[in-house]
Amino acid sequence: MQTYTIPLVPGPVSVPEAVRAAYQIDYGSSDLEDEFFALYEECERGLQQILETSNSVTIHTGEGMLALWGALKSVLQPGNRVLAVATGLFGYGIGDMARSLGMQVETVGFGFDGIADPDEVRAAARRFRPHLISAVHCETPSGTLNPLGSLGAIAREVDALFYVDFVASAGGAPVAVDANQIDLGLLGSQKVLSLPADLAMVSVSERAWAHAQAVNYQGYDALLPWRDAMRKRYMPYTHNWAALAGLRVAVEGLLAEAMAQVYARHEVVAAHCRQRLRNLGIDLWPAREEFAAPTVTCAQLPTGWTWERFDGALRQHGMAVGGNYGPLAGKTFRIGHMGAQADLALVDRGMDVIEAVLE
Ligand SMILES: *Cc1c(COP(=O)(O)O)cnc(C)c1O
Repeated sequence: MQTYTIPLVPGPVSVPEAVRAAYQIDYGSSDLEDEFFALYEECERGLQQILETSNSVTIHTGEGMLALWGALKSVLQPGNRVLAVATGLFGYGIGDMARSLGMQVETVGFGFDGIADPDEVRAAARRFRPHLISAVHCETPSGTLNPLGSLGAIAREVDALFYVDFVASAGGAPVAVDANQIDLGLLGSQKVLSLPADLAMVSVSERAWAHAQAVNYQGYDALLPWRDAMRKRYMPYTHNWAALAGLRVAVEGLLAEAMAQVYARHEVVAAHCRQRLRNLGIDLWPAREEFAAPTVTCAQLPTGWTWERFDGALRQHGMAVGGNYGPLAGKTFRIGHMGAQADLALVDRGMDVIEAVLE
């Protein structure tokens, strides 16, 4: 197995020792033990604090994509209208996913170096009258951060559910689920939470539960069975106890540091990363830094370098970064400074490697 001394991939994020230790224990049968149910409820309460919500937070085995698919299938029926707000690969992709499920989809699209313009979204929403508006908070491939509050308000104006992929931001940037009126907030374990890729989490508002009840979708990725699972002490399947034990360590770590402190750490590390790249003559993506996410930095490949040669040179120094996909493939690279990797010393070591490689 290849390991890197300077792990800076924007997910999966390197897993801290304390979390790995929690995975090493031989737990009992999760569907039989009160201790497991207590653990699940503790994780849910911690996630509610991090996400700033009184909504339920369901915790599923799987990874981030399970949350994205399961939430769509749980609250929509074929023929329903979905307005997909898209500023990058995931935003456009969610529209494609909804279309593949038989929804009528309209995409309000923006450039991959931009963020959503609420006025355009409002105009489209008033005309199209969607059942659901989808958006992506941190568009990981583009390194951008979208506004949430203005889009949440628009969803309420047209009585649509507000579906937000915050897989790559929650825990590293405020998502304020209640204040931003997010009905379905989607999270995966392998990004900011710095866990293995084995859990998906969804914050579900009462409005979203009402839709889930009406749609009554049943399936491995369904939300509805989780509504009463804890109260009834009856789970839809055998849960991954070790993963929940790891989640508790991650959640407790964030809350002990205090979220304001965690967000400040991400901002400081991201600003430092961008500054050092600029000093090396590397152009950032997006060029407008006010659009940049605090969890991931995207930049253009240095002049004269292909992605393959650049990646190979960094790996020789023990450093792993992210490449890119879609229209940004082969033109950009990405530094993931989220969760355990939002570490000034780690990012500095990475920047030192890039500096050495460019010389
Ligand atoms: C990582 C990520 C996901 C989950 O995607 P995987 O590629 O399966 O890890 C979903 N949305 C966003 C914005 C992500 O960054």
